[in-house]
Amino acid sequence: MNLIFLGPPGAGKGTLAVRAVDILKVPQISTGSIFRAAVAAQSPLGLKVKAIMDAGKLVDDETTIALVKERLTQDDVQKGYILDGFPRTIPQAEALAGFSTVEKVINFDIPDSGVIERLGGRRVCRKCGYNFHAVFNKPSKEGICDHCGGEVYIRDDDKPEAIQKRLEVYRAQTAPLIDYYREKGLLLDIDARPMVDEIVINFKKAMAID
Ligand code: AMP
Repeated sequence: MNLIFLGPPGAGKGTLAVRAVDILKVPQISTGSIFRAAVAAQSPLGLKVKAIMDAGKLVDDETTIALVKERLTQDDVQKGYILDGFPRTIPQAEALAGFSTVEKVINFDIPDSGVIERLGGRRVCRKCGYNFHAVFNKPSKEGICDHCGGEVYIRDDDKPEAIQKRLEVYRAQTAPLIDYYREKGLLLDIDARPMVDEIVINFKKAMAID
């Protein structure tokens, strides 16, 4: 099953993706995680994208499309994938249609107030990428990941100035994909406001999985 998770930053795409990987047995491909790993490794790609990401802007389409195109040639995606954070622009969606067939697009429906609450409190494991929240889902030991013992930190782009910018970018460049995929009959809306266990239930219902 080739799936896209579409929604604003902080809608819970990455959190649901971790659960959906277990349910569907297909890998999650998060362009944001790939870029963050490149930044951490200080690779040429990382050096190119760091300032763009910190400012809450989008990496250019050419770079992002090339990255995903290459990733989708790897063996582990033969039975499908969950694209988390890609496509984020109409040109990215059009390019994707040229090298892969998307079967369903899950649209994470959440108001801005929910996004701001989630992103403002989001804490992420530097090692495994697991998402915590400063109020709703704290790690048992402050600053340490329950799953892998990695360091739990605040992403640079989860700081207030970048959050506002990312929401603007989402509205201007990514939200048009909702109609784009709806018109193609691929869109499934899920209510992304509740806590993750309920979102998993909403996801299974939308996908007609028992
Ligand atoms: P995310 O973890 O999905 O919120 O992505 C973090 C950051 O990575 C974004 O704010 C962008 O700077 C960059 N990024 C991730 N995916 C894309 C994409 N599909 N197109 C352009 N930039 C992206």
